[in-house]
Amino acid sequence: MTDRPPLLIIGGGIGGLAAALALAREGLAVELFESAPAFSEIGAGIQLGPNAFRMFEVLGLTEEIERYAWHPGHLVMKDAVTGEQVLRIAVGSPAFRQRFAGYPYAVIHRGDLHRVLLEACRRESRARLHTGRKFAGFEEHADGVSARFEDGASVGGSALIGADGLWSKTRAQLLGEAAPRVSGHIAYRAVLPRDQVPADLWRDDVVLWAGPRTHLVHYPLRRGKLFNLVAVFHSDRYEEGWDVYGDPEELRRKFHGERPEVTRLLERIETWRMWVLCDRDPVRLWSRGRATLLGDAAHPTLQYMAQGANMAIEDAVVLAACLRHTAADFARAFRWYEDQRYLRTARVQMTSRFYGDIYHAAGVVRELRNQLLAPKPGNPGFEGMAWLYDGITLPTRECLPP
Ligand SMILES: Cc1cc2nc3c(=O)[nH]c(=O)nc-3n(C[C@H](O)[C@H](O)[C@H](O)COP(=O)(O)OP(=O)(O)OC[C@H]3O[C@@H](n4cnc5c(N)ncnc54)[C@H](O)[C@@H]3O)c2cc1C
Repeated sequence: MTDRPPLLIIGGGIGGLAAALALAREGLAVELFESAPAFSEIGAGIQLGPNAFRMFEVLGLTEEIERYAWHPGHLVMKDAVTGEQVLRIAVGSPAFRQRFAGYPYAVIHRGDLHRVLLEACRRESRARLHTGRKFAGFEEHADGVSARFEDGASVGGSALIGADGLWSKTRAQLLGEAAPRVSGHIAYRAVLPRDQVPADLWRDDVVLWAGPRTHLVHYPLRRGKLFNLVAVFHSDRYEEGWDVYGDPEELRRKFHGERPEVTRLLERIETWRMWVLCDRDPVRLWSRGRATLLGDAAHPTLQYMAQGANMAIEDAVVLAACLRHTAADFARAFRWYEDQRYLRTARVQMTSRFYGDIYHAAGVVRELRNQLLAPKPGNPGFEGMAWLYDGITLPTRECLPP
């Protein structure tokens, strides 16, 4: 299949690189175009469910991912006002692994995950990767596509995959939609070296402190060398902001009155990076002819289920399987791919919004949350997430629609 023009992938984030790898492994020539001058990911953590590890197995990356992964003992939710433990799921237990077909729960530095994908792509002779190439738009013609870049150049290909994230240009052209929905929630992120975390505040778990209109998540990274912090709060600042510096004073105000474990951790950090969190309502169709979308470009979600990147990796593997079984009939493969993906990713988008409300509950709703989520004897709490962590079955030729 390598003698046909390459598949063009726009965006070299986790989704774009996973797609380049999965497609090259299918024998397809791919060319990926990233607008940044160099491939990189921000210095923060990412949680990986058993569903992502199922995909790493397909991509042959499990061993490399495990080299950098940290396996937390538990996912813990605490009430940031009273300090009571609301929820504790033993994701590091043998029972958890057994329940999810042997696949683990892990956290990883984004840079490490991105590098594993990048290096795997670089080992594929069919994958060509470019940086400093800002996509501007594309045209489709009878037997291919032509992508235009801001430097004035055009590149021809068989088909085009927009993996260009939340503010996707590809999506704007395909679906003609307005800007993403600003949620009114802001995230501040920081990473601390282990020796800067007070010993009594260090936890091996993923811990979420749920407060009124706020929450703080922390967990170790890089096999315990680093400590990842994400502080989220409601705000009426609606301007677009992405990876800019945050104001520690604003954070102190928003988390005022919460448990000392929370406020002491926030005080350790001088430099925060700020994200204005956005998503979109789910859509049923995100492909047209020889063009499709993947990852945040297709189904941007709030991060409250920690699944946006997990979904992008699943997208990549499903897309490759669809192309395998349609002999690279791109329009047909893309329709089949979005059909396989839209309800699952829609569920993540909608449930993530709901989780945000649960995390940030106040007053009686907060008390009700704590009561409803309280551990039930004999119930390890695995089944609530089974629809997600059980992962996906890859499409086979037998279920190819006519
Ligand atoms: C605070 C926070 C915490 C999160 N935690 C988790 C988590 O624990 N687990 C999880 O699974 N997900 C998490 N997510 C979500 C996750 O980060 C995203 O879903 C994921 O990174 C999406 O990957 P992507 O490749 O689709 O998009 P992106 O990572 O946005 O990559 C898009 C790429 O396209 C490039 N690009 C953009 N425009 C152009 C253009 N015109 N031309 C060329 N290139 C272009 C960009 O430079 C970028 O490299 C979190 C998100 C946030 C904000």
